[in-house]
Amino acid sequence: MTTDEVREKYLKFFEARGHKRITPAPLVLENDPTTLFTSSGMQPLVPYLMGETHPEGKRLVDSQPSIRTVDIEEVGDNRHLTYFEMLGNWSLGDYFKEEQLNWIWEFFTEGLSLAREKLWITVFEGGGGVARDEESVEIWKKIGIGQERIFYYPAEKNWWSRSGTPEQMPINEIGGPTSEVFYEFESIKHDKKFGEKCHPNCDCGRFLEIGNSVFMVYKKTKDGLGELPNKNVDFGGGLERLVMAVNDNPDLYQIDVFQRFIGPLEALTGKSYDSFQREMRIVADHIRASEALVKTDVVPGNKLQGYVLRRLIRRAAVKMRNLKGNLQKTDLSFDFTDGVRQVVEEEVERFDKTLDRGLKEMEKIKKIDEKKAFDLYQSYGFPLEITQEIFAEKGQRIDKDKFEAEFEKHKEKSRTAAGGMFKGGLADKSEETTRFHTATHLLHESLRRVLGEHVQQKGSNITSERLRFDFSHSKKLTNEEIKKVEEMVNERITKNLPVKAETMTVKEALDSGALGFFSERYKEKVKAYSIGDFSKEICGGPHVAATGEIGRVRIIKEESLAAGVRRIYVSQTAQ
Ligand SMILES: [Zn+2]
Ligand SMILES: [Zn+2]
Repeated sequence: MTTDEVREKYLKFFEARGHKRITPAPLVLENDPTTLFTSSGMQPLVPYLMGETHPEGKRLVDSQPSIRTVDIEEVGDNRHLTYFEMLGNWSLGDYFKEEQLNWIWEFFTEGLSLAREKLWITVFEGGGGVARDEESVEIWKKIGIGQERIFYYPAEKNWWSRSGTPEQMPINEIGGPTSEVFYEFESIKHDKKFGEKCHPNCDCGRFLEIGNSVFMVYKKTKDGLGELPNKNVDFGGGLERLVMAVNDNPDLYQIDVFQRFIGPLEALTGKSYDSFQREMRIVADHIRASEALVKTDVVPGNKLQGYVLRRLIRRAAVKMRNLKGNLQKTDLSFDFTDGVRQVVEEEVERFDKTLDRGLKEMEKIKKIDEKKAFDLYQSYGFPLEITQEIFAEKGQRIDKDKFEAEFEKHKEKSRTAAGGMFKGGLADKSEETTRFHTATHLLHESLRRVLGEHVQQKGSNITSERLRFDFSHSKKLTNEEIKKVEEMVNERITKNLPVKAETMTVKEALDSGALGFFSERYKEKVKAYSIGDFSKEICGGPHVAATGEIGRVRIIKEESLAAGVRRIYVSQTAQ
């Protein structure tokens, strides 16, 4: 079965059970200051899991293109990817465990004809104040799965939230116990270095997780776990991994979507995939991810999404050079559309100019450290992963956190008014945009106070004339609501409240009540900006020192942008 066929089967299966097929979110959310990429199917649905009414109803299904760069160093093994699609179905306070577990079993065993005896089940063993999930076990047994095929695991394995276990969840984060289905590859023999006995979560590779049903019913409060208004189901399953199970082949790179890379790679380098799996997998994954990013209008650069794209292309280029012995502009072009081809070729050409000099420079370094690794990045554009690999081969490690610290030090030095990691959707760094950007914080908080806490910023765009602000909300704003928001913002402007920044980790920021809707588990430090006691938000600036500098504003237009997303325009009031 092809990847397209598996995707379509899944979507149709759940459509036939009352689910509405929704449009997945873009890979890069427009001007979202707190997240680089969409990294799961549930991420765009968080407000609805928290209780807001979804315009398409209570049963939803989609396949969400996603990027996760936390796994970038794992790419090269038989199962990790940076770019993938995630199948997802949701019940927003509608059906619960009984239907979900029965349906997903039916889909796997009948829809995809996976052999029953190769499927294994895991459930939450309890902890953090939540009981062992016997309810799911009973349902699995009724389906016909024997106790010996059901495994209990702690929160590290069978609890899902964007930040980990119940203890790790910041205030307002949602989560819940999970039940997963694993596929067993009989061709992979258990290796005792991973433990005496093999089991679904064993790292030997014999088992592959193909589906995760999250029973999303909890929200972290200052008093511990509280209950969400609804009992929700949030299912996620990696599409490519599912195809791997359908093919009963433990090599993810053997599925159809990678054949357009592996074949040409073998032809171009004259080497076989079997002998150079790791290198060819990295090239295939990174270039496929790069293609998806370029199609989302990302261009290689030194910041944010652009930097991720640059790392992907350059790492693939180094692997290609190792395979082929040299590097040419067209080596990574594959069968791309013209637009993608041009971006990739230009980046390879740019990198090729410094690659040889950089490699020579590297040869001179006897002992690598984080500062030198950063210099190599600065002068020759070598992403950390490349430097790491070359010196690791020599048994030398570079500490990622220390490297990031070097990066931060440098960024701090070169930070211009509009610079920074969490740049807030600014067209330029003029005074007007600084004023308007600060106004987005007041606007965001005012919208939440007037319309409700489901409101989340979805993007902003600023010119010297006006501020455009997108946010989650499903209904048209009434004139009265518009007036209230406007007054609330202007009142804070008139009060001339101080704007202050504090640097802290994402968790500290969220625990202190700062707004920030993130998807990756950032360990890094961020800035939380407070405006008096009124608003607190994770952001990268630039901001005025006190709100009086903004000058009074007015909402000039309010419109619908997409299902569940509104857009407003704000301008300065004539003085
Ligand atoms: Zn094992
Ligand atoms: Zn800001």
